[in-house]
Amino acid sequence: MFSSILTHRFHTELGFEVTHCASLKALNEALGPDGHDFTIAVVDLNLPDSPHGEALDVMIAHGVPAIVFTGYFDVGVRNRIMERCVVDYVLKDNEFALDNLVASVRRAISNRRTRVLVVDDLPSARQVLVDLLTAQQFMVAVAASGVEALEALDRHGDIELVLTDHHMPDMDGYELTRRIRQRYGSDRMRVIGVSSSNDRLLSAAFLKAGASDFVYRPFVPEELQCRIAQNVETLMQIKQLRVAAASDYLTGLYNRRYFYDQAPRLVNDCLRRALPSSVAILDIDHFKRLNDTYGHEIGDQMLKAVADRLQTLFVGSDNLLSRLGGEEFAILFTEMDSQAATDLCDKVRADLSCLKITADDEELSVTVSIGVAEISGYEAFENYLNAADQFLYMAKHKGRNQVYSDARMTQEAAQ
Ligand code: GH3
Ligand code: MG
Ligand code: MG
Repeated sequence: MFSSILTHRFHTELGFEVTHCASLKALNEALGPDGHDFTIAVVDLNLPDSPHGEALDVMIAHGVPAIVFTGYFDVGVRNRIMERCVVDYVLKDNEFALDNLVASVRRAISNRRTRVLVVDDLPSARQVLVDLLTAQQFMVAVAASGVEALEALDRHGDIELVLTDHHMPDMDGYELTRRIRQRYGSDRMRVIGVSSSNDRLLSAAFLKAGASDFVYRPFVPEELQCRIAQNVETLMQIKQLRVAAASDYLTGLYNRRYFYDQAPRLVNDCLRRALPSSVAILDIDHFKRLNDTYGHEIGDQMLKAVADRLQTLFVGSDNLLSRLGGEEFAILFTEMDSQAATDLCDKVRADLSCLKITADDEELSVTVSIGVAEISGYEAFENYLNAADQFLYMAKHKGRNQVYSDARMTQEAAQ
């Protein structure tokens, strides 16, 4: 029962192809004589033809990172598991066992994208931490001093967790923690102090300096693993919240909040370099009619289709695309004056007019109107959006399915 539920959950929740082996014999066959491509294994210690964890030894021998899933557990079993450098062990002793196991596999896979820095002047102490982190699948960087640690943080750029010793020659862990906190908030970088000091106040000093956690040596590996996992989990949750707060639920584009947060910064970057930028507001024509005729769901489908197409058109560019709300989208064009942005928007307009969705065997399409305003000075960003909105209004007034801007207005005046 466990294996069929797990096979299903690993497949649907984590997107894995799963091979289930019910015995050591089946496992040996699956591993085959000439290599395998298993990325992770979940191993029961007690199989019909191998009741003493032989399957785990085979996995380790084949270099497959293993998570032990066991119904029987005591100190002896625990010690045997821990000697083998497993990723984790999960007990079958409660109703959440399956959830815990799925979470453990998910964590292991996600750890492969997380870089951790180990800072310790003593090679043997450093190695213990490196081994523990490597077993948990983390990418690991090392530093032998506080100064080296700061260099490593600069060099890698993607380090999210630092495990640091306290007593080190050039800069102690406490000072390193303070320096890290001057540069990175706890929402981006976690710091865990690990020290064999017998100063009972050291943990408090570290935490007050901004460390996320502290563990005295000698530590119980599982305890440190759990503290690491919790810190990494917190960072992931913060990332997810950040993404959710910045994205539009229906279309997945950036939302209004993100646009208003980020666009002024991009504009200022351009102004500082004496480069123009432009802002466009794009609005679907007669969208209410589509909703009224075909229903809100079809309207939503059209919004998603338009958003996807815009996303495709702007992917990889420095331009900032967002859904302002309703059937209105905003785009900030960096390093583009009104003329360039108007030309580009006209291509977008023409492209979108060819977009089709199917509803009730009918092909539906829409047109869009776009207003573009050039940003040339340090005015409130809101003013430029209002200008773009005015141009949008004129595009609508002139018959829709067109782009209007200061560049167009100048052109028209010259004719
Ligand atoms: P115009 O060409 O002048 O822009 O006309 P319009 O009908 O597109 O403009 P109007 O502002 O009158 O109507 C916009 C409609 O968009 C009204 C509203 O019900 C609909 N709408 C807003 N948000 C959503 C949404 O998330 N989903 C759907 N399906 N409709 C939405
Ligand atoms: Mg509209
Ligand atoms: Mg509108």
